[in-house]
Amino acid sequence: MTSPTQSLAPRIGITGLSTYGRRSAEYRAYSDHVQAAGGIPILLGTPHHRLPANLGGLLLAGGEDVHPQHYDATPHVTYHGNHRRDAAEIALVTAALAQELPILAICRGCQLLNVVLGGSLVQDIPSQTPDPLLHEDGVRHAIAIPAGSRLATLLGTTVSTVNSYHHQAVSRLAPGLMVNARTTDGTIEGFEPGPDASPLSFLMGVQWHRELETPQDSVSQPIFRNFVESARTFRTR
Ligand code: MN
Repeated sequence: MTSPTQSLAPRIGITGLSTYGRRSAEYRAYSDHVQAAGGIPILLGTPHHRLPANLGGLLLAGGEDVHPQHYDATPHVTYHGNHRRDAAEIALVTAALAQELPILAICRGCQLLNVVLGGSLVQDIPSQTPDPLLHEDGVRHAIAIPAGSRLATLLGTTVSTVNSYHHQAVSRLAPGLMVNARTTDGTIEGFEPGPDASPLSFLMGVQWHRELETPQDSVSQPIFRNFVESARTFRTR
């Protein structure tokens, strides 16, 4: 028997355990934000190819480069990836999309989700973007958020500042998505479904790791809350 409170708390699968490890700061940050938003973090094992039953949402964590074979490109010299993790996470995302499970995708997760939906990636921002900003080492940069997007509604603003730990980014955006955050060198920093998508489902990719900053982070907290709320709705619909 589960108590009513437990049954209302949605289980959120979190990928990337093989890369981060259970005790890492990254994993704690993901788990803490899920819990603070009212969800139960379920750490997916190494590697996990099947979605556990009764999940309310899937959090695609950061990590290595997605192999460019998945978007019909050849690897750039900087490629550093993990084939087993790609295979496992592509299977998980494909299953999650088929169920319309709420998905929050962070950094590598954002890139992977775009690839699975049919998009492509900039393989190395420093060498493949004209006048690139620095996007590594946690450097902060501004983002512009289109008015009317779900992200703008959640954050209550059309400008923000994010940290940056990536050398790749979305290049060709997958069909059905719209950019919801972009920075001054043109790099896509986030996406969500386009205006024709069902408002019932939650799908969002973000390139930053603001969740690493504080448990009360003003950018991550509203996103995780809306994600977990959508996961709760998914389980009860
Ligand atoms: Mn960035």
